[in-house]
Amino acid sequence: MNSPGKDLTASPRPDIRRFWGGIRFRLTLMFGGVSLILGITSTGLIEHLAARSMIALSGERTREISRSIANSISQSLIERLREITLMSRSPLLTSGDWTNPAVRTIIEAAKESYTPYAWMGVADTSGRVVIATGHLLEGKDVSQRPWFVHGRTGPFLGDVHQALLLEHYLQNADPDVPLRFIDFAAPIRDPEGQWLGIVATHANWNWVDAVISEGMSPENTAQDIEVLLVDQEGYVLYPIQGDGQLHSLGQRLPKSGYAILDWDNRRYLTAQTIVRAPGTDTLSWHIVVRQPVEVALGSVADLRYHMLLLGVFMSLLLVFLANRVAISFSQPLQKLAQVAYRIDHGEETFNFTVRPFKLRELNELVSSIRGMTATLFERKHALEQVNRSLEDRIRERTAQLREANLQLAALATTDGLTGVANRRRFDEILEQEWERAKRAGTPLSLLMIDIDFFKQYNDHYGHQTGDTCLREVGRLVRDSIHRAGDAVARYGGEEFAAVLPGTPEEGALSFARALCQSMHARALPHARSPVGVLTFSVGAASMIPKPTEDASLLIARADQALYQAKRNGRNQAWLWEDARASHAYNQSSPTDT
Ligand code: GH3
Ligand code: MG
Ligand code: MG
Repeated sequence: MNSPGKDLTASPRPDIRRFWGGIRFRLTLMFGGVSLILGITSTGLIEHLAARSMIALSGERTREISRSIANSISQSLIERLREITLMSRSPLLTSGDWTNPAVRTIIEAAKESYTPYAWMGVADTSGRVVIATGHLLEGKDVSQRPWFVHGRTGPFLGDVHQALLLEHYLQNADPDVPLRFIDFAAPIRDPEGQWLGIVATHANWNWVDAVISEGMSPENTAQDIEVLLVDQEGYVLYPIQGDGQLHSLGQRLPKSGYAILDWDNRRYLTAQTIVRAPGTDTLSWHIVVRQPVEVALGSVADLRYHMLLLGVFMSLLLVFLANRVAISFSQPLQKLAQVAYRIDHGEETFNFTVRPFKLRELNELVSSIRGMTATLFERKHALEQVNRSLEDRIRERTAQLREANLQLAALATTDGLTGVANRRRFDEILEQEWERAKRAGTPLSLLMIDIDFFKQYNDHYGHQTGDTCLREVGRLVRDSIHRAGDAVARYGGEEFAAVLPGTPEEGALSFARALCQSMHARALPHARSPVGVLTFSVGAASMIPKPTEDASLLIARADQALYQAKRNGRNQAWLWEDARASHAYNQSSPTDT
């Protein structure tokens, strides 16, 4: 409940738009953070796994390509060797009659049958070319050529070499790159096994270009997969560099499988396969296949990009959803807080509803608080009602009490029978006036009034009539007093007293006489009084009080005067001074004078 002087800063007004530090902020932060961390870690993990399997896949592919190309080259070499071997065993050659025009026809046909063949010819045992395609090198000495040296014993395959003799005769498509050949040779023997000579052919090195191109699919080329043919010393035989010279590979190759190697500041997935070349120990070619790692992992980079996009999107979506969920929590709570704040600050309505589909617990909370608030309001109103009626009753009772007190005070100071002040009040008044007169140095007079023969009156008329009579006398004495400050009291029994402040003895005496006359004039019958009517005697005394004197002296003097009036025959007034001087006033003499 609101109370004046309450410190309102203790409960700040709830602000529904505040975001920081609230349930909304925390939920949004939590979900956003968690989804971001999950997104980044899962992207990292997936990328790592994908990269691993991508490397394995691409590595395996490079290995497969190298193996397949090595195989093709090997197959092609076997083909060429078989061709030359078959040629060496042709009866046209083994007959030894190489001048036969059919020999020329057959070697020309064999050369034509395979485009890379640049030359085919037969040399006799002395190393002189006897017959050759296009008559090239016929009559020349080739005895020092490796194919002649090694071809005597069996089929020979020679390593790639620059054209030495043929250079002049053959047309070179690219003059900057020297012509290179590989040689195939086989010995010619007669049916008895006698060596007659050697048949040989030079295949243009661009032959290998055709084989490799065949082994490479367009998408392999598109994925920057390169094929190199390397010799035993590590020189790149294919592709020949632009300057036409052979260059060293400058790399140690993986013995098996694949490896990631650095070439010219670029990382390559690399695999190699040895080309198996039949009939030669010297030839040791390797097919090296390499692909830039970043190209091999291109799809992984794509994947990472998409995963990150997805992660960011999911995070934003989650943040949005978390925000929506948090709003559905926080808004009703904040509204509830506002309602509670307003109630706390004196408003008496609970105008708050939760949309029905919202959280059940919240609905329960709201209805509980609504119930509680209603009960509190009811109790407050009942309490206020009780307070109001209590206050009314207190007011009523207070008035009654005041009235009763007034009555009590009146009763305490009033004589019940006559209605004039009682003896207690008389004592108070006399004391007050005595002290006042003492202070002011003014005279104070006291009259003692006593009904004559009242005992007889009672005896004659009965006590009840006596009471009525006392009431009448009281009224008469009271009505006689007109000066403010004068007071009348019932002194006791049938005696009355009058206190007359500021009145000197002459005034007191004349007032006393007037009283006696009024009583007498009233003519209340008194059968047993000598005068036949009710009379009274009055004793008057007047003093200017001295500091050492007290009021009892005044009473005593008035009593003395009264006594003198009684003794002197009643129905008369006496002044104390006179009484002292034994000077009597009776109805005829002093009263009338
Ligand atoms: P005196 O002239 O000498 O004054 O004679 P008295 O009879 O009046 O005086 P006394 O003192 O002998 O008697 C007073 C009487 O007053 C006695 C009593 O019966 C009567 N009296 C006193 N108080 C009351 C009262 O309250 N009611 C009635 N009815 N009588 C009272
Ligand atoms: Mg008396
Ligand atoms: Mg009397």
